Amino acid sequence: MDMNFFLPVKVIFGNGRIRELGSLISGDRIMIISDHALLELGFVSEVKEKIGRTDFIEFCEVEPNPSCETVDKAAKLARDYSVDTIVAVGGGSVMDTAKAVACLVSNNGQIKDYLNGSKTFTSRKVRLICVPTTSGTGSEVTNVGVYTDKSSGVKKPLVSEFFWSDFALVDPRLTFSLPKSVTASTGLDALAHAVESYWAKSSQPVSEALAIRAVNLIMKYLQRAYTDGDEESREGLSMASLLAGMAFSQTRTTILHAISFPLTNIYGLPHGFACSLAMPEVLKLNYKVIGNKLDILIRYLGLKNIDELSNELEALMRAIGAPRKLSEIGIREKDIDGLVESSLSSPIAKLNPAKIGREELREIFETIL
Ligand code: NAD
Repeated sequence: MDMNFFLPVKVIFGNGRIRELGSLISGDRIMIISDHALLELGFVSEVKEKIGRTDFIEFCEVEPNPSCETVDKAAKLARDYSVDTIVAVGGGSVMDTAKAVACLVSNNGQIKDYLNGSKTFTSRKVRLICVPTTSGTGSEVTNVGVYTDKSSGVKKPLVSEFFWSDFALVDPRLTFSLPKSVTASTGLDALAHAVESYWAKSSQPVSEALAIRAVNLIMKYLQRAYTDGDEESREGLSMASLLAGMAFSQTRTTILHAISFPLTNIYGLPHGFACSLAMPEVLKLNYKVIGNKLDILIRYLGLKNIDELSNELEALMRAIGAPRKLSEIGIREKDIDGLVESSLSSPIAKLNPAKIGREELREIFETIL
């Protein structure tokens, strides 16, 4: 068997390890990237205190599902200040923005040039430290960024070898303040990463080992983190998100993420809810093609068969307030064709093990209408 595995990120994980942030800084021109809510919650002040310096520039305007305009605005600030170190403190939206900004400092043009493929990043001189405050995206250990082009209304991923962070500083305590709905949505995002990486055509033994453990942790802890939010469940979810990120950084995601882009873009569904909406249905379809492989996951979870797994997923989604029907977010029969076309236009749709073309996807959407 041939296999490649490459993950050039130093990972620091543990409760309270935000205290080590200062020791990771080597430059003089430091930029902190975050968002308004996290600024209000005191995360930015905490980061500044841990760095132990006072000379920073800050950009705390990142919105959920960051737009190209936001990235370019932050990049202008970074270029003007000749930034040499970026600390991203936030969820996937903040970390993805920081990845692009770190690259745009030493590459000319705008993020759209790279998103539409007319330019490619050729270097990155800025040190990038990612400090996640959600437990879902795994962006701290992936070479992917996801950006929304408001002019075309398209949200899409960009992959670059220069998007790996130098350090992923994962302190589960930073997720203690997550509201229930964000805990639910981000937890389901991590679950989608793990499940999709596990079944992806591009999966390999190391990514499978990471993914299977991530699924196990999420099934054990997500509902508890949602209802109790206790330390053990938060730590379990942060680990799961990290492992799932490592897994899909090697394989990419598949049809569930392809479906998520229009659901978020057009219907405003939070990313993790959008990724998981069709999970039980796609799981059953994939079982017909890779049943033996999915049986290993089913047994590892202590379940008997595919129906039990599918029912467990449904029960989990309901218990944490995730939508199960397209109609819950205002989608009607007449919208399905557009949703099918938009989902299938994403290249990752082809990485799904079972062939899901127009007909199959239409059928899935009709089942969950
Ligand atoms: P997010 O970063 O958009 O944050 C969601 C909300 O939660 C924001 O309002 C934020 O202020 C708030 N929040 C974050 N941490 C908090 C905390 N500790 N306490 C209270 N509130 C907090 O959400 P996300 O799910 O982490 O990121 C989603 C984005 O990441 C999407 O654009 C998605 O496409 C992208 N993504 C990227 C990758 C990747 O590998 N690069 C992977 C998956 C998803």
